[in-house]
Amino acid sequence: MANEITMPKLGLTMTEGTVSEWKKQEGDPVEKGEIILVVATDKLTFEVEAEQSGVLAKILVPAGSSAAVSDAVGIIAAPGEEVETSSPAAEEPVTKEKPVKIESETSASPEKKPVESSEMSEAGIGEGTSVLVIGAGPGGYVSAIRAAQLGADVTIVDRKYYGGTCLNVGCIPTKVLLHTVELFNAVKEGEMIGLKADNVEVDWSALMKRKEQVTAQLVGGVRSLLSSNGVKMLEGDASFISDSEIRVSSSGKDQVLSPDYCIIAAGSEPVVPPVPGIDSKSVITSNEALSLDKVPDSMTIVGGGVIGVEFASIFASLGTRVTIVEMLPEILPNTDKEIVAVLKSVLAAKGVEILTSSKVTRFREENGSLVSEVKMSEGDREIITEKVLVSVGRKPSTSTLGLENTGVKMDRAKIIIDKKMKTSVDSIYAIGDCCSPIMLAHVASREGEVAAENIMGHKTVMDYKTNPGAVYTSPEIAWAGLTEEQAVEKGHNVKIGKFPLIANGKSLIMNETEGFIKFVVDEKYDEILGVHIIGPRATDLIVEAALALRLEATIDEIVTTIHAHPTIGEALGEAALDVNNIAVHIPPRK
Ligand SMILES: Cc1cc2nc3c(=O)[nH]c(=O)nc-3n(C[C@H](O)[C@H](O)[C@H](O)COP(=O)(O)OP(=O)(O)OC[C@H]3O[C@@H](n4cnc5c(N)ncnc54)[C@H](O)[C@@H]3O)c2cc1C
Repeated sequence: MANEITMPKLGLTMTEGTVSEWKKQEGDPVEKGEIILVVATDKLTFEVEAEQSGVLAKILVPAGSSAAVSDAVGIIAAPGEEVETSSPAAEEPVTKEKPVKIESETSASPEKKPVESSEMSEAGIGEGTSVLVIGAGPGGYVSAIRAAQLGADVTIVDRKYYGGTCLNVGCIPTKVLLHTVELFNAVKEGEMIGLKADNVEVDWSALMKRKEQVTAQLVGGVRSLLSSNGVKMLEGDASFISDSEIRVSSSGKDQVLSPDYCIIAAGSEPVVPPVPGIDSKSVITSNEALSLDKVPDSMTIVGGGVIGVEFASIFASLGTRVTIVEMLPEILPNTDKEIVAVLKSVLAAKGVEILTSSKVTRFREENGSLVSEVKMSEGDREIITEKVLVSVGRKPSTSTLGLENTGVKMDRAKIIIDKKMKTSVDSIYAIGDCCSPIMLAHVASREGEVAAENIMGHKTVMDYKTNPGAVYTSPEIAWAGLTEEQAVEKGHNVKIGKFPLIANGKSLIMNETEGFIKFVVDEKYDEILGVHIIGPRATDLIVEAALALRLEATIDEIVTTIHAHPTIGEALGEAALDVNNIAVHIPPRK
């Protein structure tokens, strides 16, 4: 019986491929499993095997032409069998030159039309297009610089701090503390690595000063970059009067701006749940946790998400007795389960107690301490600590933006955006924590570039596929792409490769052997679906995985990339080899 040979799908976003060579000609006999043609994409060349024996009855797509994925490119039939050739691919082969385009939406209103691409170049196009950016965090300042680079006349306004949450009370200050804590831990265990140091201690007030210095230096850098790109900087509270008018209030003085476009980058703020007693001075959010006057003796952390476990890691290492109370059955939801198990054992070794499926119902002050009343499946419990850190999530900071005076559509506090970061009003874009599905600084920055480019007439769509997640505990955690569970849920036949860091030379040198690297791979073509790391430098190593996802790489491309020795990165190559059970530095799996 005649059967079609179809264009195989060789990557998640592959839409078409080119037949680079037919190994058989029409009329040639074909054996099942024999290579019958070669397909090329912009990334790889693939030999297609015959799925049945017979005769190559028809070549529908000649060598040098392209066809869409799943379209017929040829027909195998029984000897002497007549075949029909009405396949669309046969009538209209796609030419080799046809570009593979990522879908983008077209959406410019007649009034506020992005600069036409004919007027556009990297610099100098759309000169005079005025853009107001509200919020100078990693979303806002990056979008302002990108818009200025593309020729816009840009003004940016922030009511509190340039650099936003990230530089002032988020990513940077937490990592300053974590860095010192990591060194402290390493020196404490120094004898292992031939290092003797007595009475090593953390000078908390000096650490606070260093945190301020690092922050100030980076904030200064942001201001100077904005200035050198010609961006006008304002301090003040911005709120919309209408779709096209924004009031900026500063020290009792108001000015009204009417830019061509506005990018809202107002960020987010901590969620404070309505638990009785939460207004106690001993209950703090991440903002205050970064400016405590001393290291607390004990701390209850409500919420076992990224921010909660990072603070648990910091304070437990400094000697604080830490208890994490998490409402869900597990801390760090959406993180690889095996990684969470390792982290939990590391935190437990530091004395951190983790209560899951547990909820704080009330706080009460008692004898200078704070009692957290906790409802657990095993019964109720009271935890007495000096401080309670509430880190149950963050919410978009949109309540004072006057968005009710605009046509911007919201999903509760969150601004609704499309793939180009445009809101329901053509002249208003939004980026970062105030609208994004992922609240991370690097995501906000990328969204900022996307918004600025679309305003300036480019057609850029936001793609979250390569976004790396990172948790700066000790050891660090990082991932990109799908977890094993997510890949299975999406219908992939999954293969796993895993390499323990105990078998990695550099990890041993560093005396940081806790952890592993794990590849989640689609069985069919060994395409990488996700990479998950727990171990030292995980947050730096993940860049290779993010790039692999961007390039739709297969395991072969990691394996054949030479990794420097001795590095922890070598373990990436080994974990990739382990997908096919051929890692060199661990025994083969039986
Ligand atoms: C403790 C902590 C640790 C974190 N660690 C990391 C990390 O390691 N890596 C990571 O990627 N992310 C981390 N994050 C998240 C990261 O900080 C945010 O995702 C990021 O800052 C979002 O950037 P943004 O530009 O959207 O908003 P923000 O950084 O929040 O900036 C928004 C700015 O808008 C201003 N603003 C708001 N409303 C107005 C208005 N009406 N008028 C004028 N100005 C206004 C605010 O003053 C603020 O400066 C962390 C967050 C916290 C809290």
